[in-house]
Amino acid sequence: MANGRLEEIVLAGPRGFCAGVERAIDIVKLALQVCPPPVFVRKEIVHNRHVVEALRAEGAIFVDELHEVPDGATVIFSAHGISPTVRAEAYARGLRVIDATCPLVTKVHLEAIRYAREGYSIILVGHEVHDEVIGTMGEAPDRIHVISTPEEVEKLDLPDPDKVAYLTQTTLSVDDTQAVIDALRLRFPEIVGPSRDDICYATQNRQAAVKTVAGEVDVVLVIGAANSSNANRLREVSETTGSRAYLINEIKEIKPEWFKNATRVGITAGASTPEFLVHEAVEALKRMGAVTVREVHVVDENVRFGLPRELEEITRESGGER
Ligand code: SF4
Repeated sequence: MANGRLEEIVLAGPRGFCAGVERAIDIVKLALQVCPPPVFVRKEIVHNRHVVEALRAEGAIFVDELHEVPDGATVIFSAHGISPTVRAEAYARGLRVIDATCPLVTKVHLEAIRYAREGYSIILVGHEVHDEVIGTMGEAPDRIHVISTPEEVEKLDLPDPDKVAYLTQTTLSVDDTQAVIDALRLRFPEIVGPSRDDICYATQNRQAAVKTVAGEVDVVLVIGAANSSNANRLREVSETTGSRAYLINEIKEIKPEWFKNATRVGITAGASTPEFLVHEAVEALKRMGAVTVREVHVVDENVRFGLPRELEEITRESGGER
């Protein structure tokens, strides 16, 4: 395939913003219009510095923890979700709370609550340092065990092997997660869980698209933040096809030597990556010699989520000023 001259750029579709990220950004923008300033956002609203900086420029104040938010102020919780203790603290302090947790993350929280109430030990497949997993863990910290590999299944020490449930982080590798679930089923034949896993539609679609593209190219560029789970998984999924893959946050990180002996380059973007970064990457690769741009689109997406009720109420109270 490679003859040493960059010729073609192949874009993966779908790529970039998912419905949960679009909703979270819309929530912050609307809150800035209808809530009295200052408007605080706890943690990165989504894992992308460009998104955070753009919202900061519009007036949002990003903080790491609630103690940085003054009593009575407005605080928005990020798309990754929060532990119930954070929510309780916010209400106890009289903060005006707007929750931008993605509804697909909330679904996993509700599953955790239900399994905990029914007395299950819960295996949460995910990365324990990720904000989403920290939030889900908080629903039942005494019952949830976080694992990320099949090897960890053997080490699990659970009180009743016949009363086990599993959940998964929404942004994992579909294939890797299946391997962990298979190992869980082998060790705990009575295990219950969601019909397949909790990996969200956007993660699945972006991985399917990049897998197709990676099979046709020499190198894949994944545009996304280093702390974005779904962007990291896109890089890993690309590599499973034998392509080289690089995760970059912006075009200045592109190294020309990556394309030595490469004819085709694939591009995808994580669910929290703005499309303008893809355009910039395309232009940069054109300057390096690529002449054609083609898109491989594997599935249409038409998912949309409504705004949180509390924000609709605030908008109504403020006279619908938007
Ligand atoms: S990646 Fe999936 S779970 Fe995360 S915000 Fe997007 S739609 Fe929601």
